[in-house]
Amino acid sequence: GGRRGGGWRGGVTLARGGRQVLKTFAQAVSTTLKNAQVYAEMREHGEAKAYEAEHDSLTGLGNRILLHERADRALAAAAVDGTQCALLIIDLDHFKEINDTLGHAAGDLFLQEVGRRLIGALPHADAVCRLGGDEFAVLLGGLPSPASADVVAAKLLEVLSEPVLFDGLRLSIEGSVGIACYPQDVGDFTELLQRADVALYQAKDARGSFFHYQVERDASSVQRLALAAELRLALARDELVVHFQPQYDLSGGRVVGAECLVRWQHPQRGLLQPGDFISVVEHSGLIRDFTLAVLDKGVAECATWARAGRRLTIAVNLSARNLLDKQLPQDVSGVLARHGLAADQLILEITETTMMSELDVVESVLGQLRAMGVQLSVDDFGTGYSSLAFLQRVQVNEVKIDRSFVNGLGASDNDRALVRATVQLAHSLGARCVGEGVETREQYDVLVSLGCDYAQGYHLGRPGPADAVRRVIGLSYDGIPRPRVEVEVRHLRAVAECAAPVAALGS
Ligand code: C2E
Ligand code: MG
Ligand code: MG
Repeated sequence: GGRRGGGWRGGVTLARGGRQVLKTFAQAVSTTLKNAQVYAEMREHGEAKAYEAEHDSLTGLGNRILLHERADRALAAAAVDGTQCALLIIDLDHFKEINDTLGHAAGDLFLQEVGRRLIGALPHADAVCRLGGDEFAVLLGGLPSPASADVVAAKLLEVLSEPVLFDGLRLSIEGSVGIACYPQDVGDFTELLQRADVALYQAKDARGSFFHYQVERDASSVQRLALAAELRLALARDELVVHFQPQYDLSGGRVVGAECLVRWQHPQRGLLQPGDFISVVEHSGLIRDFTLAVLDKGVAECATWARAGRRLTIAVNLSARNLLDKQLPQDVSGVLARHGLAADQLILEITETTMMSELDVVESVLGQLRAMGVQLSVDDFGTGYSSLAFLQRVQVNEVKIDRSFVNGLGASDNDRALVRATVQLAHSLGARCVGEGVETREQYDVLVSLGCDYAQGYHLGRPGPADAVRRVIGLSYDGIPRPRVEVEVRHLRAVAECAAPVAALGS
């Protein structure tokens, strides 16, 4: 006894039995407390484990498991309330270059920044996850319609468009977004993920920024995936073929060279055009072998012409990714040496992108190629982002006006002004100007009048296999369009003159 008020007063004397009871009670309390602590620790540990299991350690975003779990809930809710649930998959365009050239630490910072921006832009999304590599996913439930996802996709691309600063470099983040919606496009989560992935391919294909899944286009995407798998085999089996399109000097009408354009002689699908497979190659990790295979064929053919007394140039297209390959100059000089072709007979065509123009490795690779005597050409001029900035930094021998501008010559005053300005720009940089995609006599004449140096296009000659180009080599083109047969008849003497060396090529 003696309990009064709120506490114990004075000494408490307990009988032996009472003391034993209290001791036992105290032990029980202590054990309970200890257990509670252990349980709490265990729970925390378990929660940490569960958290780890569902999150990406680099960015702190959710991972695939979290996405799956959230999607199950969101899909169930959408099924009940009749709303749409959208999955957006975002893929960054130049991440591999960043990793390859600036190192993994830079790559990690880049991904973390992307993660921060995605979360910042969409605090209320059902899930923002990193699926691995440079692929991110956003889950949005409760949408009134599939089109509502477009607004979000546009917003995502907008927050990503601000360049990331790294070590004094401004790196632009470009990305594509694939979108699929439940229940509009799919019946479950697995399909949702798969279709959003297909839509992503479609977005990249269309060079658009975001794309909704379209069932009609799915077949072609499946084909793309199949092509990616077959590419290695194609290289091993030598299924790549090159066609040549002649290029003419606009002042004398003579053939000055040819552009080498790749085709894939696919055993089942027939002759595939670059548009069908180039982007697959660029994403495959086989771009180096691929480019070298094309280069080898083009240079071999040009060396054959040279041996027959026709000193022409051969133009070979490079992918942006080739310029990040420090081995490229060495590879190119190996091919030239193997076929005994002079370096200045090779023209490498490059297309510029914002990011590439700022990377030291690109400048170093291009500088080495120039030092070897290889000519550089800017392809599709006028369609890139920073053509002028690029030209300021990299000295080129040639600027090729994109065919979209040449197409309008004669019809559009704007295009005429653009072409005129480009010719002047090229000349002021000490480079020549080539008009691409000349399809009519009128376009040809306007190019001549604007002082353009060279031209190529269907009007002058379509790309064709090597033997077709061998037939036109040495023939001067007088600017008057007529069927090839007629040209050969009219220039019979010229044909006869060059027939001997050309015929010798065939044997
Ligand atoms: P490009 O380098 O701008 O090549 C010109 C493209 O325009 C070729 O298409 C050619 O067939 C087409 N063309 C030529 N004259 C005309 C014309 O008068 N009118 C029209 N409408 N088109 C014309 P192709 O062969 O389908 O190649 C497309 C693109 O694929 C090329 O554009 C080039 O960027 C890329 N490419 C081709 N071969 C290679 C390669 O070996 N490596 C890489 N990385 N890219 C390649
Ligand atoms: Mg080209
Ligand atoms: Mg072009």
